[in-house]
Amino acid sequence: MKMGEMLYEGKAKKIFKTDKENEVIVYYKDDATAFNGLKKGTIINKGIMNNKITNFFFDLLGKQGIPHHIIKELSDREVLVKKVQIIPIEVVTRNIVAGSLSKNLGIPEGEKLASTVVELYYKNDEVGDPPINYYHAKAMKLATQEQIDTMEKYALKINEILSAYLAERGILLVDFKLEFGLYEGQVILADEITPDTCRLWDSKTMEKMDKDRFRRDLGNVEEAYQEVLKRLIG
Ligand code: UDP
Repeated sequence: MKMGEMLYEGKAKKIFKTDKENEVIVYYKDDATAFNGLKKGTIINKGIMNNKITNFFFDLLGKQGIPHHIIKELSDREVLVKKVQIIPIEVVTRNIVAGSLSKNLGIPEGEKLASTVVELYYKNDEVGDPPINYYHAKAMKLATQEQIDTMEKYALKINEILSAYLAERGILLVDFKLEFGLYEGQVILADEITPDTCRLWDSKTMEKMDKDRFRRDLGNVEEAYQEVLKRLIG
């Protein structure tokens, strides 16, 4: 697959054209950002680890009926994917209180939620990805109610699959963010599932194994990502 011109550069990835109109190549960078780009840094080899972790998770999910955009891993940092139109809604699923939920609702981090919470955020850095509800999504024509229902249904199923898989490997899936895209009119899972987009805690020690180590300057960031990869793939 020939890599063509760059179409887009995001915070953690670059997107390149291919010789096929409906396929693009994702290139994973080591760049790390937090707090809507205010904090910047590098996590050595993050791109390689996140490419592998995403490809592994998407393959696992695909086998259990979740449609997704990944076609084929091309190299350490590159993956061939279906070119989707990203729906500008970030879907966050939570099992345990952390981050903004803790701050906004005044519940201490680490408290188990009595039932799973799914939240929608408007994917727009200019306004800092604010939380939205169905009314906003409809009024702003971000997605149809049917598409939102599909994204939420997939998010809950993904939560069950990943929580169980990770639990067997000594990891608690605290929360995670998903992005979906439209491909031939269908909603499919896109973007990435990595320690950049999930909160992962060691089930025994409760140690953080995700981007919070970077956000909160906890150290051993690379080691944590490496440990996640090792527990997943061995
Ligand atoms: N998240 C993400 N991208 C964002 C915002 C959140 O991947 O732009 C992930 C984050 O890593 C966590 C979950 O979504 O796993 C919930 O994040 P939260 O709303 O608590 O926000 P944060 O505390 O990360 O600002």
